[in-house]
Amino acid sequence: MASEQPFWPVDCGEGEPDLMVCMSCLNEVFRRKVPMPDCPSCHRVSTYEAFTLESIRDWGTEELIAKAEQAHVSVEAPPVQADEIPEPTPPA
Ligand SMILES: [Zn+2]
Repeated sequence: MASEQPFWPVDCGEGEPDLMVCMSCLNEVFRRKVPMPDCPSCHRVSTYEAFTLESIRDWGTEELIAKAEQAHVSVEAPPVQADEIPEPTPPA
């Protein structure tokens, strides 16, 4: 896919909810950023509210939870190039 979705960065404090959920469709979630100019799912200029992964797990659809988990992981652990993954050192 060549088209890149532009995003507004969102400042979230440490320990603050930082998963931004589209309040129009409740089907898109982004971590510490919101898509512009509109939501890629419902194409509405929506409000986004910040939630924690735990709270999304409480009320989200399976799809939303999966996206939230993905967004959460992708920021925590940036993708590593396959050839840059260090060999695990076996214990001596
Ligand atoms: Zn939406």
